[in-house]
Amino acid sequence: MQRRANFTILNSLFMKKNTTSRRSFLANSAKATLALTAGIAASGSMSEAWGAVKTFDGAKFSTGFKQEPLPYSYDALDKAIDSMTMEIHYSRHAAAYATNLQDAAKSEGVDMTKPLEDVLTKISKYSVKMRNNGGGHYNHEFFWKSMSSASTEKPSGKLLTALEESFNSFDSFKNQFGDAGKNRFGSGWAWLFIDGDKKLRIGSTPNQDNPLMDISDIKGFPVLGLDVWEHAYYLRYQNKRADYINNWWKVVNWGFIQNRYATMM
Ligand code: MN
Repeated sequence: MQRRANFTILNSLFMKKNTTSRRSFLANSAKATLALTAGIAASGSMSEAWGAVKTFDGAKFSTGFKQEPLPYSYDALDKAIDSMTMEIHYSRHAAAYATNLQDAAKSEGVDMTKPLEDVLTKISKYSVKMRNNGGGHYNHEFFWKSMSSASTEKPSGKLLTALEESFNSFDSFKNQFGDAGKNRFGSGWAWLFIDGDKKLRIGSTPNQDNPLMDISDIKGFPVLGLDVWEHAYYLRYQNKRADYINNWWKVVNWGFIQNRYATMM
């Protein structure tokens, strides 16, 4: 069975909904602007022109509808997240998202042999149950892989260079990403993502939304995501979300994240 996410769909979203990206795209990229202008002249359609210069290949990132095994033991991330939090988070919260997603997919006629990403990029066509649980399942499957007991202090290679170019320094990136998590009111996620201009951006989403979704204020391909729901940290940190975020850097699996970024670019 081959899973292949269709990011042509994702690309078209940037054009339809994200005027901020479109503006910064026009302002920041002379080369792409030329391509865009040429495309508009040739096709008369800005949407087609946008699609022509965006070629995300999501083949290696397709997510299934079932929960995968946790890639480490519940106590492996104790530097940042305690064992009981991990157990409850994985075996109850995240497991429930997977179960409820499969229920929704069955009742709404979704082909579960295809990538979940295909559903997320057109989530506006589905139920609230699909949105909450499809997002919840995707976000957590990604989150578990994004952490490791053998974390390195920072990424290397293309991702480190891109972070330094985009946010001035790696420390400045961490501060801005951390602020996105600290300032998200209520439950949600902080994201590092690649926008429609293939630039790195930081943002946050409420509830279980993510940047793949066509209803999201921020749109793009997730590179790194941080769960800032209270269930992710409350047993050890109570109301101190900032302490959880500051400690979380100790368990980020930069090897996985930088490969994800390099493959996407
Ligand atoms: Mn969670």
